Amino acid sequence: MDLGLRGKWALVCGASKGLGLGCARALVQEGANVLIVARGQAQLQASATELIAAHANNTGASVLFCAQDITTEAGRAAVFALRRDFDIVVTNAGGPPTGNFRDWDREAWIKAVDANMLTPIELIKATVDGMAARGFGRVVNITSSAVKSPIDILGLSNGARSGLTGFVAGVARSSLAAQGVTINNLLPGAFDTERLRGTLQASASKTGQPLDIVTNTRRQAIPAQRFGTPDEFGAVCAFLCSQQAGYITGQNVLVDGGAYPGTF
Ligand code: NAD
Repeated sequence: MDLGLRGKWALVCGASKGLGLGCARALVQEGANVLIVARGQAQLQASATELIAAHANNTGASVLFCAQDITTEAGRAAVFALRRDFDIVVTNAGGPPTGNFRDWDREAWIKAVDANMLTPIELIKATVDGMAARGFGRVVNITSSAVKSPIDILGLSNGARSGLTGFVAGVARSSLAAQGVTINNLLPGAFDTERLRGTLQASASKTGQPLDIVTNTRRQAIPAQRFGTPDEFGAVCAFLCSQQAGYITGQNVLVDGGAYPGTF
């Protein structure tokens, strides 16, 4: 299926590795131009080089990178100084730390809300009116299955991302919907990335169980009996960005190997 993304411009945040990089890879494979953002210059540059060598040379897509902290105003300004008219925006930043809610002070909460709620809202605010004026736009927010099925040690994530989810439910159904702009959330379950390895290690430390036991227990709780790959996640993201997905908006799309146990 041709997703109709050739020549579109995509901003993909948190894209030097993990799920963000999976999304950037899928978009470049479809011929979309990407601007990838992450904080560390060296890893980001290496990922841009990989995208160009593996895919962009075949599809003619451009790959730009901008080493910035997307959760800061200065970081977003630097990104938008390079380009403003994005057709596609994939919002993403590192998830908040694990822990016990009794230990989180106001500063910890502000940081989580800033990264996982206010940053995506700022990115939406900066881009959707331009998308609407051009008659095409796709925003995909990488959130978490924790929005539907909270994880105790990830309280900062459960809370901050639920705020974003409520905001998106409203804005996706605004006048933007009739102007070709869709806004959806993509909810990862367990994907084999550095982040997952970190949260498994945190569980192991909390419970005192060996890491391999914690990892196997988590894997076995997933009906698919495995962790997802960033490329599988990226493929779903690319579809949500496609021409064909123009009638999907305001949705929370779970990609979790069947882990969420509910009927709806
Ligand atoms: P990861 O740690 O493997 O990669 C995160 C990427 O974001 C990296 O490129 C990192 O450099 C970049 N990044 C982090 N903070 C940033 C910032 N302030 N500004 C710009 N770039 C920044 O994480 P991942 O597994 O790819 O997860 C992506 C998101 O999905 C996270 O918010 C995570 O909490 C969430 N999530 C992941 C899983 C999973 O199983 N991997 C499950 C549920 C939710």
